[in-house]
Amino acid sequence: MSDTILYKYGAQDGHEGSLYLNITNRCTNRCTFCIRNNPDGVGGGTDLWLTHEPSVSEIKAALLREKPGGYKEVVFCGYGEPLMRFDDVMAICLWLKENYKDILIRINTNGHANLIIGYDVTPKMAGLVDVISISLNASTAAAYDKICLSDYGEDGFYGMLDFAARAAKYVPEVVLSVVDLLPADEIEACRKIAQKAGCRFRVRDYTQ
Ligand code: SF4
Repeated sequence: MSDTILYKYGAQDGHEGSLYLNITNRCTNRCTFCIRNNPDGVGGGTDLWLTHEPSVSEIKAALLREKPGGYKEVVFCGYGEPLMRFDDVMAICLWLKENYKDILIRINTNGHANLIIGYDVTPKMAGLVDVISISLNASTAAAYDKICLSDYGEDGFYGMLDFAARAAKYVPEVVLSVVDLLPADEIEACRKIAQKAGCRFRVRDYTQ
């Protein structure tokens, strides 16, 4: 069976919904709730484990087969952390913007891109990325690391928040999100952190 580089989600009322790109298995976290802990992938339906990382050309070919112009957005999401491949993601964003100017581009990320690449990459996203959704996950560095088991330890939390604040200067919408499994007081503490960082806050459904 071939790898699932691309899958569709959210079609309704005659709209095609979103195209999701799955481009790597790698991540700098090992979150306790990650779908990578579930061998069946998304909700038990789609096996997202990649036998190899698709090249930029393979990803473009997969998009072309789906005629992306009919979709409202393309989302970099997937099994692992898409910004492990920051330059490849930006190359695909540029190609999409040049060929499908109305399509929205969203990146779902753990917010570690600057830690991964080693410098502030957020200016490179200007004009290419419309929405960044970052997993905040917890209100303190210690709680974050307990949930996310980051390669960077507690610095993963501070690096993620710094990335969010910097990205907000170049990307129209930056969202910090938590899953709805957290206690109410922890969710409120996270909401305040998002406000302070100048980002939108979202409590997302764990099952989606
Ligand atoms: S950051 Fe995302 S991909 Fe990485 S381990 Fe956590 S949930 Fe999984």
